Amino acid sequence: MYFPTEEERKDLTRGLLPKAREMTVAEELRGWSWNAPPLEPIYDIKLALYEVANYYCPTARDLYMKRVMDIDTKPNVAMLYGRVLHDSLASLIIAAKRAIYIEGVNHASEALEGLRRPDYSSLDKVPQHLTQEELEELKSRVAVVWRHQLNTIISQVDTVLAKQPRIGVDSLVSLSIPVSVEHNLDGSFLGLSSHLSTDAYRFYETTILDIKFGEPKDFHRLTTAGYALAMESLYEYTINLGCIIYARFENGRLLVDKDYHLIDDELRQWFIEARDEKMRMVSEEIDPGMPEECYESCPYQGHCSR
Ligand code: SF4
Repeated sequence: MYFPTEEERKDLTRGLLPKAREMTVAEELRGWSWNAPPLEPIYDIKLALYEVANYYCPTARDLYMKRVMDIDTKPNVAMLYGRVLHDSLASLIIAAKRAIYIEGVNHASEALEGLRRPDYSSLDKVPQHLTQEELEELKSRVAVVWRHQLNTIISQVDTVLAKQPRIGVDSLVSLSIPVSVEHNLDGSFLGLSSHLSTDAYRFYETTILDIKFGEPKDFHRLTTAGYALAMESLYEYTINLGCIIYARFENGRLLVDKDYHLIDDELRQWFIEARDEKMRMVSEEIDPGMPEECYESCPYQGHCSR
């Protein structure tokens, strides 16, 4: 899921990668320009990145309810599923790297075969309010995602081993599993939480990854833009590419679509405007009002009223 398929690699090398190299981004919209407008935060508060990037509620009243009215709610089923599935994937990536390091190049494939049984420990963190049926469904999705990702890792390792007879263990890990999961970032230069966490893939260019287990939304790209800005603010190198990985399940099958995109001026500007608008809403306690239509699974249903 994390890794580009052969077709995606071809598309990237002929399409977005050259564009990313040619793209010019205004200097004031690079993360390292955090100490001057427009990136300099205008209010002295910190927002989580998802608080800036989420527009499931079109007026962002969920943020107002949480941060101004101090009303917290239980996450909905889709949020819980997403969290557990992402945690399982992250633990597989870490377990796979660890297994190769421990067993070494000559036993890497067998070591990975030893990970066939999924790690269900992320299910332990699920709060009590899921039904038994929802838990069973979630468990089966963890198994599907685990198998899919492990098969890809094994295939990548075998491909690298077949090409590189004298490869060392560190090189094998970095060439076959070129992903950092839950990369911690301090977003405070940009008025964001100091405990951000993202996934990133190294394929010629560092690409910010975000996995969504739900319907595609245009605002999802705000997440990759936010992480790119935070990374640039810390490390002072350019991040030009993002990818939202959409995973969905149909009749027990995992279907994956990817939205590779440039993190260009327009997207950066959109992220900054969203951050400023939401900071203002929280700092000045401005009720944004309700949208014409609320989304069905909003956890604030029953708390919001006109
Ligand atoms: S109930 Fe409606 S207005 Fe309130 S947060 Fe949810 S979507 Fe927004």
